[in-house]
Amino acid sequence: MSITYTTPLSHVGHWIDNEFRRGGDDRQSPVFDPAAGKVARYVDLASQADVEDAVASAVAAQVKWGNLAPQRRARVLFKMKELVERHTDDLARLITREHGKTFPDAQGEVQRGLEIIEFACGIPQLLKGQYSDSVGGGIANWSQRMPLGVTAGITPFNFPFMVPMWMAPVAIACGNSFILKPSERDPSPSLLTAELFREAGLPAGVFNVVQGDKTAVDALLAHPDVQAVSFVGSTPIARYIYETAARNGKRSQALGGAKNHMVVMPDADLDQAADALIGAAYGSAGERCMAISVAVAVGHIADELVAKVKSRAEKLNINDGEAPGADMGPVVTHAAKARIEDYIASGIEQGASPVLDGRGHVVAGRETGYFLGATLFDHVKPGMKIYEEEIFGPVLCVVRVDTFAEAVNLINAHAFGNGVACYTRDGRTAQEFAQKIQVGMVGINVPLPVPMAWHSFGGWKQSLFGDHHSYGEEGVRFYTRYKSVMQRWPDSGSKGPEFVMPVN
Ligand code: NAD
Repeated sequence: MSITYTTPLSHVGHWIDNEFRRGGDDRQSPVFDPAAGKVARYVDLASQADVEDAVASAVAAQVKWGNLAPQRRARVLFKMKELVERHTDDLARLITREHGKTFPDAQGEVQRGLEIIEFACGIPQLLKGQYSDSVGGGIANWSQRMPLGVTAGITPFNFPFMVPMWMAPVAIACGNSFILKPSERDPSPSLLTAELFREAGLPAGVFNVVQGDKTAVDALLAHPDVQAVSFVGSTPIARYIYETAARNGKRSQALGGAKNHMVVMPDADLDQAADALIGAAYGSAGERCMAISVAVAVGHIADELVAKVKSRAEKLNINDGEAPGADMGPVVTHAAKARIEDYIASGIEQGASPVLDGRGHVVAGRETGYFLGATLFDHVKPGMKIYEEEIFGPVLCVVRVDTFAEAVNLINAHAFGNGVACYTRDGRTAQEFAQKIQVGMVGINVPLPVPMAWHSFGGWKQSLFGDHHSYGEEGVRFYTRYKSVMQRWPDSGSKGPEFVMPVN
């Protein structure tokens, strides 16, 4: 059965052996249209047997795929790049309908995923090994990067195309097969992605999709034929994935949650900083792991900064993500909305000052949608739940400090270390900030410092468990293992055994 590019299925199933497949048992989960606030379709939740089928298909495909010349694997990715370009709007529409983000934002997500495919097209260059001629007695020594075998990726709801693309193109280009377990909250883009891979010429079994929940994840983590697991999602699950994968002898990289700060120095252009905060805090309804959720106002500018953010936030156009001119859509589910509302209530209870309270926001014609207005808290302090925990919604906290050193210490003491930004017009301050801050991705006058495809993405502290960041050359290292070969072609005739450690 084939799926169509623009109309999602009423039941989202798996993708195994380049074919759509319904789940083997009848466990399902509802998928919502968050702007309408109703169930749009159902997704099958894989059983252990479904996962075993996917792994068997991936095992059968991998050796032949891994033995192909890298440039032939790259050609499939070049074709995939063309197809994703052609179907950007189809992918973006699916994302908007199930996630809720605005259509232009969804197009941007597809573009950032596409850039990783473009990066992976360069795999022949990236897999070039190292060679030393004549290391002793006519011996040459070279080192090369080999595929791991079957790899798996478990991804979050907030980037249903881009985050799978952080993983799959690089894993596949390196000669692995890849099994995607997408979020059950917005599963449809994974099937269109799979169909595009098939159209690009990817052999059956090299890219499989199993839809599901913890059952599917645990089956992948336990399966002896899965060599490596990439994860992106919340911190408690990231830690669980990393520990379980390690216990089962698998390589893993597990990217977790975030609480990203933006420092605004007294010398910053406050209009620029306020605009940056609006986009970075409320874009995608705050459901980005790089969203800025804390503004750190340094010195006397705090009142003016809060006023500028407030006046801009009040004017946000909150609507169905497909409505022209919408700045912010709904949050993903009713449960997410209720969780965020609880955080807002706790902020008020714990003494933060609510400048804007987004609860109760109603969009005309979309009264049942999962909408929240922009929320802004001033006078937030460490120790408050809204400061310590990830809210993952359109809530911006302002913390006031007196000095640059206080701002740096505040951020370095936080449990998360994904992204951070500093707005300043002083080069020395910028340099010191980039040097001292204990965070994996740093923006200087850049609010969302998401690294480009040929760099790598990853946070520090509770935001990443594992040794490798995602995609870029770090991705190539994660999805390959090192092999060193020493070779000699001696003249005929033996010189007898050698008992001494070989030296040059
Ligand atoms: P989540 O942790 O709830 O789910 C992520 C994945 O894990 C999903 O595929 C889900 O099905 C699976 N999962 C959920 N519970 C599980 C369990 N008990 N056992 C095994 N698997 C389980 O995350 P989410 O709500 O989908 O996404 C939002 C989170 O992802 C936020 O915390 C956000 O910061 C984080 N995120 C991080 C990055 C990053 O790069 N660090 C990027 C995007 C999102």
